[in-house]
Amino acid sequence: MSLRDILIYPDERLREIARPVDAFEPELSELVGDMFETMYQERGIGLAATQIDQHRRLFVADVSEDRSGARAFVNPEIVERAGSVESEEGCLSIPGVNETIVRAERILVRARDEKGKAFEQELDGLLAICFQHELDHLDGRLFIDYLSPLKQQRIRKKMEKALRRERV
Ligand code: ZN
Repeated sequence: MSLRDILIYPDERLREIARPVDAFEPELSELVGDMFETMYQERGIGLAATQIDQHRRLFVADVSEDRSGARAFVNPEIVERAGSVESEEGCLSIPGVNETIVRAERILVRARDEKGKAFEQELDGLLAICFQHELDHLDGRLFIDYLSPLKQQRIRKKMEKALRRERV
């Protein structure tokens, strides 16, 4: 397993739409392994393939406190949504930015695990939020897209400034 580099906003590759996974090969479990390693290293609760420049429909998540809740979601989709809840979110691709947006409170999801086994599950709480956030990544969407244009502009400027500083 190895750590992968995470794309940082406003990198345009974060806007790519991922294509479905259609083969469950050893290479896929290697990618999933790398994604878990990278997510844990960065102390994230979720990581989408898009964020490491792999434009395939899969993400990993672990919302537990002791790293006991590792889950991989391949070709994920939301079948039903219910309720709404305010959610304070951050993103490994937008470090240092935390904003509150509105998400569905409960979702019924369909996906496959890393071995290709299909399942359907009802999610709520943090995992439901995480699922919506990561699924957005696969469609080239970021949580800051839900903010006002003015706020988005401020975040973009802040991130561009930080990137310039890093290059010096
Ligand atoms: Zn994110």
